[in-house]
Amino acid sequence: MKARYRYRCYPTKCQQLALSKLFGCVRRVWNDTLAYCIEEYKVGNKKPKNADLQKRFITQAKKTKDREWLKEVSNIPLQQSLNDLEQAYQNFFKSCKGQRKGKPVRPPKFKKRRAKQSARFRQGGFKVHENSVYLAKVGKLKIVWSRELPVAPSSVTVIRDSAGRYFLSFVVEIALDSLPETNSNVGIDLGIKTFATLSNGEKIDAPKPLKKSIQRLRRLSKNLSKKTRGSKRYERARIRKAKLQAKLKDTRGDFLHKLSTQIINENQVIVLEDLNVSGMMKNRKLSRAISDLGWRQFRTLLEAKAAKYGREFQVISRWEPTSKVCSFCGKRAGKLDLSIREWICLNCETTHDRDINAAKNILVAGGHSDTLNGRGGKRQTSVKEAAPCETSTRPEFIQLSINEIA
Ligand SMILES: [Zn+2]
Repeated sequence: MKARYRYRCYPTKCQQLALSKLFGCVRRVWNDTLAYCIEEYKVGNKKPKNADLQKRFITQAKKTKDREWLKEVSNIPLQQSLNDLEQAYQNFFKSCKGQRKGKPVRPPKFKKRRAKQSARFRQGGFKVHENSVYLAKVGKLKIVWSRELPVAPSSVTVIRDSAGRYFLSFVVEIALDSLPETNSNVGIDLGIKTFATLSNGEKIDAPKPLKKSIQRLRRLSKNLSKKTRGSKRYERARIRKAKLQAKLKDTRGDFLHKLSTQIINENQVIVLEDLNVSGMMKNRKLSRAISDLGWRQFRTLLEAKAAKYGREFQVISRWEPTSKVCSFCGKRAGKLDLSIREWICLNCETTHDRDINAAKNILVAGGHSDTLNGRGGKRQTSVKEAAPCETSTRPEFIQLSINEIA
């Protein structure tokens, strides 16, 4: 299994210049080739072969007057960039033909100077040392090994993010190291107020870095919008904003990494509800809170870590009625308004916390539950039981809102 290990690195002023030059060359080769491919499509030709493109836009371009500066950087990242372009096109074609799962893939785009920059070196173009990493025609970059690199990497990508920070990202082949099996399974309900509620009753709040710094971010954005594009002041304001955004992203990533590791360590089966995040992002009111909390990143992390450590990860359909079914006896309640945080099932008289009940149902819907009292094993959560209007008119359930309890 392939994994990425990312470290911060600190190039000297001189190396920063060399890297700028390298990023510029990679960008130029990519953009030249992409423009050519687009032109070829317009006249009805097929996509040219990768080998021909490499010859034309790297080897031969170096011999021309206005591209001879391509010689000043290592050839490896230039070739890698065209391999990446090839891959980007393949993904796009496969997506068009419906041969690729997930969201539709867009065609490759031109690279911009102000965005995140990267260049990839494969073996032969870099060497790992004790406190540094050598990159061809750039030199030895000082690196901080925040954790150990497990094996020799097969490639390394040097990255400069929009806040001007540098990173080295290594690809390594790692063995699947199964964790010792456990008996506990968990269902997770994700929410806005409480980030995650576990079926064992645990509630986890997210640090809300974006909410805390939202005023600051808003001020920086406003400040940036007043500056003239391309001016020195604009650039300074842009970097200030990018730095704050980078910090927020790091805080969130750190929280999600720790939480997902803990959940994977403690449980054999992890069941999550599919939230349709992209559909929710269209709701502008919710979008900020949602992107802040990073549900999507959380799901990706759980999935990857489950695969790495031999755990079972399941996603259940978001149409399962997880919040309005009693997790103890399986009886359906009527429509529960979002403001109702606690309710009592009239069938078995259990008092439910809305989120914990939902988390328990998510675990049951995944086909794994420790508490199957009176449920006769796996419950089939079908929507057929009763029409929604019918259930809501039957006075079977008492609903208590938080105010009523307090
Ligand atoms: Zn009940």
